[in-house]
Amino acid sequence: MATGHLDIDLDAVARNWQALNAMTATGTRTAATVKADGYGLGVAQVAGALARAGAREFFVAVAEEGAALRAALGPDVWIGVFSGHMPGDAEILRGNALVPMLNSAQQATRHMEALPGHPFGVQLDSGMNRLGMEPAEWQGLREDLLAAGPALLMSHLACADEPGHPANLSQKRVFEAMTDGAGVPRSLAATGGVLLGREYHYDLVRPGIGLYGGRPFEAAAPVVRLSLPVIQVRKVAPGEAVGYGWSWGAERPTRIATVAAGYADGILRALSGRAILWAGETACPLVGRVSMDLLTIDVSALDHDPEALDLLNAAHGVDEAADAAGTIGYEILTSLGGRYARRHHGG
Ligand SMILES: *Cc1c(COP(=O)(O)O)cnc(C)c1O
Repeated sequence: MATGHLDIDLDAVARNWQALNAMTATGTRTAATVKADGYGLGVAQVAGALARAGAREFFVAVAEEGAALRAALGPDVWIGVFSGHMPGDAEILRGNALVPMLNSAQQATRHMEALPGHPFGVQLDSGMNRLGMEPAEWQGLREDLLAAGPALLMSHLACADEPGHPANLSQKRVFEAMTDGAGVPRSLAATGGVLLGREYHYDLVRPGIGLYGGRPFEAAAPVVRLSLPVIQVRKVAPGEAVGYGWSWGAERPTRIATVAAGYADGILRALSGRAILWAGETACPLVGRVSMDLLTIDVSALDHDPEALDLLNAAHGVDEAADAAGTIGYEILTSLGGRYARRHHGG
């Protein structure tokens, strides 16, 4: 087979959820954010494992993801939708019992007209300036929306992965000024916020990346292994070059393995000349440019021709690949391509 193998450890996902859950006080619920197909790992399998571990509340980005999650998990879980109530969403929200986080006066009006009595939450903007009602907008709607009985008041931290960043305390203060006395469950923390400490947890936390083994949850159990098959190995003599643009040239006799994966599989082209693949603990550097379907790897350090090389494994995770590409683990995970054979273990 010339497709990579993506192995996903569902027991590790469950352990990561339990570890984050254990950081919260009794009385704080730990939800799970499973948007973008469970951060690229397969929402049905990931959310199933999380539900078996004890998660009862889930968040997705858009209503269509909520419908897929409802189909996978059945009626017993609560599903919140960050993007709120978009035009044309009434039927999918109603039919799948999804709870939109209303982000604006316009969404609130749309929801009350289309689905009166249907559960909703409210997303507040405490300083990120991305999604949610701003303080003045909320001020005008607060009384009416509270009277309609929201399920949740939430906001999102912009800098929670930097514990010392002044935005954290500033957003916390704005959030409290907007929600104190409302008598409605509150949520501010994603993974970074969970790690900031209990004063950021309120009634519900909603980690995503930490469940999948990514920063800033440094203690996370590794979740993914990506093993890529070698198609052929060749000798390259000093003075010869490799790949598009001849961007890498051999300075000594080199063995180059050509591996079956490329930027069409989410191996970002920015990894050209920068990524390390692994044969056990032996580092094999990617040389030359990443092609659409192929990588060229210097395997001179090995005393044999490998059958496959790992880009991600238990010792070398998504953040290491992200650092090499100049990005974040979130982008490495959600870029993982559709051609890989995905194998889910445990759960
Ligand atoms: C993606 C997201 C989360 C989860 O964030 P992580 O950093 O992955 O833990 C939580 N809340 C909102 C609003 C999000 O967009």
